[in-house]
This record gives sequence, C-alpha cells and structure tokens, in this order.
Amino acid sequence: MNTNNYPNNFEYFPSPCYVLEEEKLEKNLQILNYVRLKSGAKILLALKAYSLWRSFGLIRQYLDGITASGIYEARLGYEEFKKEVATFSPAYKKREMEELVKISNHIIFNSFKQWRKFKDIIDNENKIRESENRELIEVGLRVNPKYSEVTPPIYNPCIIGSRLGITPKEFKKGVSKYGLDGISGIHFHTHCEQNSDALARSLEHFEKHFGGHIAKMKWINFGGGHHITRADYDVELLVKIIQGFIQKYKTEVYLEPGEAVGWQTGFLIGSVIDIVHNGIDIAILDISATTHMPDCLEMPYRPMVRNSGEVKIKHKKNGKLKLKGEKKYCYRFGGPSCLAGDVIGDYSFDEPLKIGDKIIFEDMIHYTIVKNNTFNGIPLPSIAMISKEGNFNILKTFDYSEYKNRNS
Ligand SMILES: *Cc1c(COP(=O)(O)O)cnc(C)c1O
Repeated sequence: MNTNNYPNNFEYFPSPCYVLEEEKLEKNLQILNYVRLKSGAKILLALKAYSLWRSFGLIRQYLDGITASGIYEARLGYEEFKKEVATFSPAYKKREMEELVKISNHIIFNSFKQWRKFKDIIDNENKIRESENRELIEVGLRVNPKYSEVTPPIYNPCIIGSRLGITPKEFKKGVSKYGLDGISGIHFHTHCEQNSDALARSLEHFEKHFGGHIAKMKWINFGGGHHITRADYDVELLVKIIQGFIQKYKTEVYLEPGEAVGWQTGFLIGSVIDIVHNGIDIAILDISATTHMPDCLEMPYRPMVRNSGEVKIKHKKNGKLKLKGEKKYCYRFGGPSCLAGDVIGDYSFDEPLKIGDKIIFEDMIHYTIVKNNTFNGIPLPSIAMISKEGNFNILKTFDYSEYKNRNS
C-alpha cells in the first residue's frame, strides 16, 4: 500500500500499527554519526531495543555495527546489518557459542569461567580465520564498576547481588588465576536514559577499579543507555569525555546505544473499541499495555498521546475517583486483556472521544516491538514505515497463526 495522504488521513492505517518515520530515524543517526566522527568512538546499535531490520539499510550508512544479547540478535545483525557484530550474554551455552564464533567480531563474557570454557572454540575459529586472512574474534569481559545512577532497581545492573558484570574483587581473582592474555576489551554497561555527566561520574568508578588494565586493552566498551539523541543531551561533553579517554589510554572506545537510535522515531496508532463507566470514563483500546508496551507497567511510565492533556486523580471521601484534566474530557485508557492492571494512563481531550476514534501514542518504536507478546491471544500490531519521501508502507501484518504457532 502506498499513500501520500500522511499525516492527515489515518484511515489508511491499520489498527493497531507501529509506524516508523524514516526521516526522524535519520536525524538521530546524523547526531550519532557526529559523535562518531568528532570523538573517534565506534557506535553499535543495540538490537535489544530496536530490531526493525528493514530499516538497517539506512542505519548501516551511519553506524559501525550492532550489539547482540545472544544468538538470535547476533544472527539478525550478521544476516541483515552486515557490519560489526558484538555479542554479550550473561551466560552462553556450548551450542550457541559454536554458532556465535562464526558470526561475531566481539564476544564478551560475564565471567572468567565462561571465557575459559569456550577459549578452545574461539582459538580454533581464530586459527581458521587467520589462515583465510580474515579478522579475528576479539574477546572482552564485562565488569561491574559498582556504580550506577539508574532507577528503578529493575534496570540497575550494579544493584547489590547483581549477576551482571565481574566485580572488582572477582576480576582481581580471575586475573591472578588466568591472566588477561587473549582478552582484547573490557565492557561495562551501567546507564539507562542518562546524560553525559552521568558517564563522567561512572568513568571515575570504572577507572578506580579497573584502571590498571585499561591501557593494555584494544578497546573499552562503554555500553548503552547514553540518551544521545534526546534534546537536552550534552553531546559536546560526551565527545570531550571520549576524546580525553582515548588520549589517556590509547584504546578504541565503543558505545552501544539502543534507545537513542529509536528515540522519538515513530508512533503506535490504535482505536477506541468501547467506552465504559465506573465512576470515571474508561476507554478500552485495541492496544494493551501488557502486550504492546510493557514498559508502561515495568518502568513504569505514562506514554504521551497526541493532542491530549494531563489528568490529576482525586480520591473522594466516599472512595470514588474523580479525574480532573488539563482539557475538558477525561478518560482512563485500558487494554483489551483480562489483566486488571492493563491500564495505560489517564488522558484529557478537548472533545469527547467516540468509539472508532484513532489514538496515537508517541515515541513507540524502541522497547515495544521487540517486547511484544500474544498474552490473552491479543493480536500483534502491524508494522509500517513512512519513508523519507513520505510514502506509507506496511512492512508486516500478523495474524492468528502467530499466536497458534507460539503455543504449539
Ligand atoms: C540494554 C543494553 C544496551 C542498550 O541500552 P539502551 O538503554 O537501549 O541504550 C547496550 N548494551 C547492553 C549490554 C545492554 O544490556
């Protein structure tokens, strides 16, 4: 389907549907490319946040490769991105490692034990690569610098008892037992939606604990969570930090943002299916928080809705609720699942909502499609793109078979 009627005519859009706006994606990529060129860092797309592979053709013009959380993401990056593949997993299985060595440039381990377990597989692959004059696999270790400003705790990899990253104490033990021969890089990932001042503070802790080893490394990977494309992000400070680090240690620096690539690059469009009343007006949509945007419940946060206003909740003495909006008509948005807590948020509008009205949730491209599920048998939203030229293309629609096949 092709139409130039965007953005005025939402009739053409299936419901529900994620819509990627290519022009906005390219704007993000240009900012990231500026950081690459000015600082000298390499930037990888974290597929965990954004795996819309039909847009990889554009992304690969700007970024150096992808970072994978395991075998499937590594495969997707290898098949469709076709540049560097860096893989980190908290723990690998042998079968996965046998496949990963064929398709990864960097393999990053979460423990010395896992590195030693798979050293032979990697060494053997590197012998083959050497004889064929191909680039060798480089091995890294993920560390825990014991400092992260991330809240809530579910997103904080340095929380007490965290399984993510080798602690300074374990690192010391590992080095004295095995040495670091064969290790090319150190990786830390301690950020989430953060500005560059948080990176400056994090680096102090990283250097304090691991500083003695940095200069011996070919690269240091600063992980993801750098919100580089957000309007208030201090890009120049990031560039300065990276330049200073490279100068001081003579290593390469990698960043692997996910969210910053997909940040504000599109929306999720859905429809009002019914409006019910229980002290307040509740619109039931064909979009579910728990299946289509689970971060609403996990983070939690209230997504922005186009043309809507804020709402304050008042608890009245008789136990009832009252919604008081910035705009006149207030609604609670809920999904079509049976989960009582499948509530997206409260919104106000200038006009009353009608059944069939289209609702547009902003900034719905990252950490949404990759997390979708078919709980309650709820249909998966279609995926569409508005190209730079303004053409509307449906990339993928889903049907009943998706649900059936997942449940055998
Ligand atoms: C999640 C994650 C990323 C990407 O994080 P964003 O917050 O999306 O930028 C990068 N590296 C690792 C190891 C991660 O776990």
